[in-house]
Amino acid sequence: MSAPRTTTPTVGSRLIETPERQALRRAVAELGNRYGSAYFLGKARAGEAAEELWAEAGKAGYLGANLPAEYGGGGGGITDLAIVLEELGTAGCPLLLLVVSPAICGTVIARFGTEEQKRRWLPGLADGTRRMVFGITEPDAGSNSHRISTVARRDGEDWLLTGRKVFVSGIDHCDAVLFVARTEDARTGKLRPALFVVPREAPGFEYRAIPMELVSPEKQFQVFLDDVRLPADALVGDEDAGLLQLFAGLNPERIMTAAFSLGLARQALGKAVEYAKTRTVWSTPIGAHQGLAHPLAQCAVEIELARLMNQKAGLLYDEGDDLAAGEAANMAKYAAGEVAARTVDQAVQTLGGNGLTQEYGLAALIAATRVGRVAPVSREMVLNYVAQHTLGLPRSY
Ligand SMILES: Cc1cc2nc3c(=O)[nH]c(=O)nc-3n(C[C@H](O)[C@H](O)[C@H](O)COP(=O)(O)OP(=O)(O)OC[C@H]3O[C@@H](n4cnc5c(N)ncnc54)[C@H](O)[C@@H]3O)c2cc1C
Repeated sequence: MSAPRTTTPTVGSRLIETPERQALRRAVAELGNRYGSAYFLGKARAGEAAEELWAEAGKAGYLGANLPAEYGGGGGGITDLAIVLEELGTAGCPLLLLVVSPAICGTVIARFGTEEQKRRWLPGLADGTRRMVFGITEPDAGSNSHRISTVARRDGEDWLLTGRKVFVSGIDHCDAVLFVARTEDARTGKLRPALFVVPREAPGFEYRAIPMELVSPEKQFQVFLDDVRLPADALVGDEDAGLLQLFAGLNPERIMTAAFSLGLARQALGKAVEYAKTRTVWSTPIGAHQGLAHPLAQCAVEIELARLMNQKAGLLYDEGDDLAAGEAANMAKYAAGEVAARTVDQAVQTLGGNGLTQEYGLAALIAATRVGRVAPVSREMVLNYVAQHTLGLPRSY
């Protein structure tokens, strides 16, 4: 069953989105609807990646919508890539790797990579023929990235990387991982990260899938790095400006995670509304009962608010205002994660027993929507950020 679209007049307005972006939405939605959630969940249940969709989206130029045109990208901004992910998710095909490969890794390389690194990576990331994933989370650091202990030591011209990462998405289908490490002489207690591109086949690089309860074609992995030897040019950007460079990649990550959540929310709302219009067990369709209609209407309002916030975040980021984009991206990610969880819950309820069948594909979204509440930064850490940076409240940790 393909998900009906739930586009509202506000977002359809030229005032909010250019005709080009509206056309991009329509074209991506058409592609996504040709595959739909039955395809996507079927792939996940078979333990396979959604390769056909990924390849077609790459060929059409959607995967690299945000990357510079001179390196094979679409020449747009993160706003465009967020449209791609939101529409694919709405159609039932939320490609999680869009959050990491073109959004984080592509952005960091495009903004801070050398000419050689850009030529080596960006065309492949843009057309989807190459994939780079991203690893920052560590078992003993979690939300506290200041505690990461993966270390990069110099050995002559080379680097040696040692450490452990968890929950890295998509390693089985990537060419390389962009890892956040800290340089050895930077152990001051403050995070001074440095970013390294590590080929997956490098000696000393091992990974193991984490059994997850998610129905998703993308798996999560723990990683062991044992003196992985890297050439000097594995370092992306400046060793001393790593934090700035990292934040440049993390804002797109939040905007894309918000788009991921919004796609799930719109998919669930679309399915619930469609069902509620026809399912009749008394004298009217169940959607006439306000006990169902009002919570669904509330979800529609809150989805729209989160979408507008994400459009604001994308706009600020694409205008180069990293600081303002940071606040907006955090707020959008929070709002989208919350409304996605509420909408899926309400959608499952609306379908009664069918809400839990594989046929309708809604129950699988229950776990999926939790991702937007936990990653890449938990809702509690977003609230901490807003409490401290927006409200100026003291910090408890
Ligand atoms: C499906 C999925 C995909 C992922 N993909 C990637 C990936 O590709 N690359 C990658 O690097 N990581 C990835 N992650 C990891 C993700 O970013 C982390 O799970 C997240 O940052 C939270 O870290 P943690 O799980 O260690 O939780 P913890 O940091 O242990 O937090 C546990 C709980 O404590 C709360 N908490 C912690 N500190 C505070 C505080 N100061 N105040 C209030 N509450 C607090 C948190 O909000 C949370 O509720 C992924 C995770 C998932 C689930």
